[in-house]
Amino acid sequence: MKPSPIVPTVDFDAGGVQHGFLRLPWSRDESAWGNLMIPITVVSNGEGPTALLTGASHGDEYEGPVALVDLARSLDPADVSGRVIILPFLNYPAFRAGRRLSPIDAANMNRIFPGQPDGTVSQKIADFVQRQFLPLADVVLDFHSGGKTLDFVPFAAAHALPDQEHEARCHAARDAFGAPYSMTMLEIDAVGMLDTAAEELGKVFVTTELGGAGTATARSIAIAKRGVRNVLIHSGILAGEVVQSPSTRLDMPSADCFVFSETDGLIEPCVDLGDRVAAGDVIARVHSATRTGEAPVDYHARLSGILAARHAPGLIGIGDCLGVVATLV
Ligand SMILES: [Zn+2]
Repeated sequence: MKPSPIVPTVDFDAGGVQHGFLRLPWSRDESAWGNLMIPITVVSNGEGPTALLTGASHGDEYEGPVALVDLARSLDPADVSGRVIILPFLNYPAFRAGRRLSPIDAANMNRIFPGQPDGTVSQKIADFVQRQFLPLADVVLDFHSGGKTLDFVPFAAAHALPDQEHEARCHAARDAFGAPYSMTMLEIDAVGMLDTAAEELGKVFVTTELGGAGTATARSIAIAKRGVRNVLIHSGILAGEVVQSPSTRLDMPSADCFVFSETDGLIEPCVDLGDRVAAGDVIARVHSATRTGEAPVDYHARLSGILAARHAPGLIGIGDCLGVVATLV
């Protein structure tokens, strides 16, 4: 396979703190021999595991970026045993545009792994992560939230995995994160995800959904900041004790978790995030946005549990995810 065109300005084998860039040649109208400069921090000290920490895989999700710029600025190499690679803005063009997808190539960073060294800008970034970072990493923490169109109860997540020992390591790291909810997550479509790429290499992989609606809150950011340090402590990279707090275990046992809208219109939430629901309960109704006097369309929970995710904007389109009901373990 071709070499990556990305040139890091940091040395992954050097000790101490380095703040730099992944420099990706990007020739365009505004800059003929220009580059995309993706910020990166490496903090390294002696022997120990390597953690890869990523935020803004989707550019409109903010807890990860805030927690990771904070960590990059404050992490003292004297406190580290091993190495921490911090990429707060993985899909940097999307992050700068405040969008889920890259404005350059419309790529969804979490659907294009393993990437391609001679592909589009986003494919080149994914390829660099796949071939340069994943082999170095023992643990991967990839922050997500709902972005502009979804909102979540704050949870850390790991997947059900075929290898029980591997699954146990991932679930232990998820539980160490210490979010208010800890989810065993089912993906609608796991092809091309960083999650799948890391898991296929046997890495400890933890992801999150910490909020959404295109913003972050003081509470969700505090969860992110505490969680990333907890995962580093759990991995043996930072000294100290994991800060424990109560966490509710959730599961997504089947595709019945998901409720998708089959109508366009004005959404009326009937339960809020975190509320208990029983199978058959109306979780939202969709009213006509074009005329009065019409009955709304009701959408029902198909499982009993809590409302773990909901559509964020006030208008919904046909095919949009209206809500997710997770079961209580
Ligand atoms: Zn995301």
